[in-house]
Amino acid sequence: MSSHSVTSRTFDRNARAALADTQLRGALRHATSLFGERRLAAIGTVDDWEGLRTRAREIKDRTLAQLDRYLEEFADNAERAGARVHWARDGEEACAIIGQIARERGVRTVVKSKSMASEEIHLNAALARLGIEPIETDLGEYIIQLAGETPSHIVVPAIHKTKRQIAELFVEKLGIPPSDDVATLTEAARAALRQRFAQADMGISGVNFGVAETGTILILENEGNARLTTSLPPVHAALMGIEKVIPSFQDLDVFLKLLPRSGTGQLLTAYQSLITGTRRAPGDEGPEELHIVLMDNGRSRVLAHPTTRQSLACIRCGACLNACPVYQQVGGHAYGSVYPGPIGAVISPQLFGLENSSQLPYASSLCGACRDVCPVKIDIPELLLHLRSQVVEGDDAPQAKPLERLSFAAYATLMERPALLRVATGVGRLAQRLLGIRERVGKQGGVTARLAPPLGAWTAWRDLRPLAPRSFRDIWRTELRDAPPPQRIPAGVATRADRSGGDGS
Ligand code: SF4
Repeated sequence: MSSHSVTSRTFDRNARAALADTQLRGALRHATSLFGERRLAAIGTVDDWEGLRTRAREIKDRTLAQLDRYLEEFADNAERAGARVHWARDGEEACAIIGQIARERGVRTVVKSKSMASEEIHLNAALARLGIEPIETDLGEYIIQLAGETPSHIVVPAIHKTKRQIAELFVEKLGIPPSDDVATLTEAARAALRQRFAQADMGISGVNFGVAETGTILILENEGNARLTTSLPPVHAALMGIEKVIPSFQDLDVFLKLLPRSGTGQLLTAYQSLITGTRRAPGDEGPEELHIVLMDNGRSRVLAHPTTRQSLACIRCGACLNACPVYQQVGGHAYGSVYPGPIGAVISPQLFGLENSSQLPYASSLCGACRDVCPVKIDIPELLLHLRSQVVEGDDAPQAKPLERLSFAAYATLMERPALLRVATGVGRLAQRLLGIRERVGKQGGVTARLAPPLGAWTAWRDLRPLAPRSFRDIWRTELRDAPPPQRIPAGVATRADRSGGDGS
């Protein structure tokens, strides 16, 4: 499945194509389970993981409640330290600001690192239109740039690629002899990228956190290329979503424990670059110019809503992707958005419009695994349900389906009227008996599997339990109400039904 040919509008079709790709599913299974295991081991090193999560969420909620104040404090302190801060209303403005900085300085080549935000606004394409060559330097991003694809994970962008596919890509694009040795492949990428660093006129990075009390930006990474991107070229532009600000260094301590453990299962990433302003004196490490672009791009809208606001607490660790049974099967490209997985299904409709992503809130079984692993306790299932209600009831209601509405209205009518429900189930039981279909209901290939569309879309994948011969109310009224209470089962003695976990039916 080419990542360029899919959009969020066609998640169902994208997912079907992904499910047919056994190589993709193998790569996903391997990577997501590995990250899941590492995460579990890493969080086991923290005494009070739950307490840490709660603290992180409190910090985020407090910051979001006064975001304007903290952003101004951050901007003032960053400028005092020598940075130049720019405010961008949307992606177009952010691209224009960065493009202008580059053009005014005659930039021809840009090295980039750690920036999902730049993927969000298609910065590479904007730079290319100005005749500027952007080079991705994170190994995963570099691989997908060579392959002409888009990221499929917010932390591990090339998670969908197998070692063999990467080896073939390097033979074709870097001209190296065939090898599937990881060290050889990494060395080839490193050699190619070192040249690019030396040529680059400007570095562009993302930001993990911006500390308001000092105007410092923090970038976490493992390869050292973000450090090179932000310190070798004479100009550094950092693209920062406005939700990335946190009040103080003390708060950073909490997030530094949470993010690496949740993302890659590390106690700490190999590099933590804390950048406060420009280089102090000629010969010092660091760029001559530091530009920080504070980008809104729909975030204020999300902030304004009391339910959706919590999605801005996301620290982009990717743990919810690794834990999600849907993502584990279909991977990131199926979502047709730079932000895939559970958090992507929440963020993409909010940032890019529900009309463009109305299928995404349904890309979930609502099992809650995402909520359980989220280091900042974002209730993703609640947000998905909120967005689903927007899809069917919102002003735009792009996908309001008349038949679906009718079915739920009929269901509600039935459930609110016990007498009507009794009559309806009585008719259903009679039909089951007369037609002799009870034995065939609820079995794959049975009656339910043959329902005509659109109901067939439901029964193609699910069994429907047949109606029980008698209702519980009926059994209660005639047999159980006046029966003596059951004997207590002594502790430690399990019945067969308990052991099998079933209800005995
Ligand atoms: S929603 Fe939570 S788990 Fe998912 S990426 Fe954001 S912080 Fe991580």
